[in-house]
Amino acid sequence: MWHLRGNTTLTPEPYIQSPSHPASQCLSGLGGDLKNTPQNPVTMSTNSPPVTPTPPTSPMSPSTPTPPPTPQHGTTSYAKSIVFMGKGRSPNFVTESTRLPIQLSPGQVLVRVELATICGSDLHTLNGTRTSVHPCVLGHEGSGVVVDSRREGVEAGQRVTWGVCASCDNCLSCSLALGNKCMKLHKCGHTLVTTAPLFGTYSTHTLCLAGTPIVPLPPALTPTLAAPLNCSLATMVHAMAKIPTLPRPGHPGATVALVQGAGMLGVYGCALLREAGFGRVYCSDPNRTRLAKVSDFGGIAVHPEQEDDLIAPDSVDVAFEVCGSKEVMSRGVRALRPGGTYILVGLVHPDSRMDVTAQTIILKCLTITGVHNYTGEHLHSAVNFLARHHHRYPFKSLVGPTYPLSDFRNALEVARSGKFFRVAVNPQL
Ligand SMILES: [Zn+2]
Ligand SMILES: [Zn+2]
Repeated sequence: MWHLRGNTTLTPEPYIQSPSHPASQCLSGLGGDLKNTPQNPVTMSTNSPPVTPTPPTSPMSPSTPTPPPTPQHGTTSYAKSIVFMGKGRSPNFVTESTRLPIQLSPGQVLVRVELATICGSDLHTLNGTRTSVHPCVLGHEGSGVVVDSRREGVEAGQRVTWGVCASCDNCLSCSLALGNKCMKLHKCGHTLVTTAPLFGTYSTHTLCLAGTPIVPLPPALTPTLAAPLNCSLATMVHAMAKIPTLPRPGHPGATVALVQGAGMLGVYGCALLREAGFGRVYCSDPNRTRLAKVSDFGGIAVHPEQEDDLIAPDSVDVAFEVCGSKEVMSRGVRALRPGGTYILVGLVHPDSRMDVTAQTIILKCLTITGVHNYTGEHLHSAVNFLARHHHRYPFKSLVGPTYPLSDFRNALEVARSGKFFRVAVNPQL
C-alpha cells in the first residue's frame, strides 16, 4: 500500500535544508493528513506485502500544472530508501521514495550507493534490542559513486566510501581529534529523516552531510571489498591506534595479541595485527564456523574450551574485546602481561559490567581503554590498508549473497541466520 505525503509548498526550492529549516516533506505528516503535491512527491510504502515503488512522474492534479523541478544530477529524480519506523511499530520499516535534492548545501556530497552491507547493529535496531531514533534511513555500511558534490576535492564520478560520523569540526570534541564524539554529531543510519532525509545506506542514494569524511576508493577495491570497510575495518584501525609502543620485537611476549571475537571486527583485526608485525594473534570465539575463517586472516583460532591451554596467563601484550560478551573480560585481563593493554570495542550495550577488580588493574599496571567508531583519519588508513593487502587475505569472502532493496526483508532473514559475516544489498538492482 502506498501513502502519498508531503507539504503543500508550491514554490520549487532546494529539497535539502539546513536543520533550522528541516526537510519537513519527509515523514513530517506521519499519522496525519496524507497529501501529495507534484512539488513535493514524497512517497512511502509499507513492506507487507512488498511493493515496487514507482516514483510519481506527473502532477496528480490538473489544477497544479507546474512540473516538478528536475535535479541536475543522476538519471532519476528520486531515491528509494529503507526507513526504520521505530521499535514495536508494525511494520518497523518501510520503503520510501524521496525526491533528490536539486541543490546541495556547502559540504554535502550526494552518492549513488553501489553496495551496502547489513551490520549486526542494524539487526539489533530492527530486533528492538538497540535504541535508535526514528524514523531514519537505515544502514551505515556502503560505498558508491558521487553524483553531486559541494565539497572541494570531491567530484562527480568518483567512487568513494564515507564515514559513519558527520562532525562539526568546531566543538571541544572535534578540537581534541574526537570527531566521532562531536557535540553536534550526526551518524549515518541513525539520523532523523527530518534532519537528514537520505543519510543512510539502505538507499539508492546517500546524502553525506557536511562534516562526513569522504575517501576515494581505488579501482581494486571492488564494491564487495569496499562496502563493509567503513564500519568494522575503520573501527579496528582506530583500535589499533590505541596500542602503545611495544617492547622490541624478538623479546619474549613482545608481539602477542588476543582478539576476543571472530566476527568482522575480529578477522579484520587479525589481518591488521599481522601486518603490524605481531607474531602471534590468537582469536577466540565459541562459534566454530567463524573460527574456521580465522587462520585465513593470519590468526590462531582458539575455542574458549582451549583457551586456558593455549594462552598462558600474563603472556599477551594487547587484547581486543570485539565480541560484545562481558564474559570474556576476566579472561582478557588474565591473559594480559604486566603493563598490557586491553582495548574494548564490542561491548556497546548496558549489560557490560566488568568482572575485574581495580586491584588487578593496578597490580598488573594495565591500560584499559575504549574505542567507539572512528574519525576520517582512520577511514583513510582503512582504505589504504585494504588497497595494500586485499590480495593477501580473502576479504571478499566476508560478504555473502546480495539482494535488491526491494527484497530487503529476505536479506534481513539471511543476515539473521548468521551464515555469513555480511549480507549485501544492491540498491540499484
Ligand atoms: Zn556496521
Ligand atoms: Zn564537533
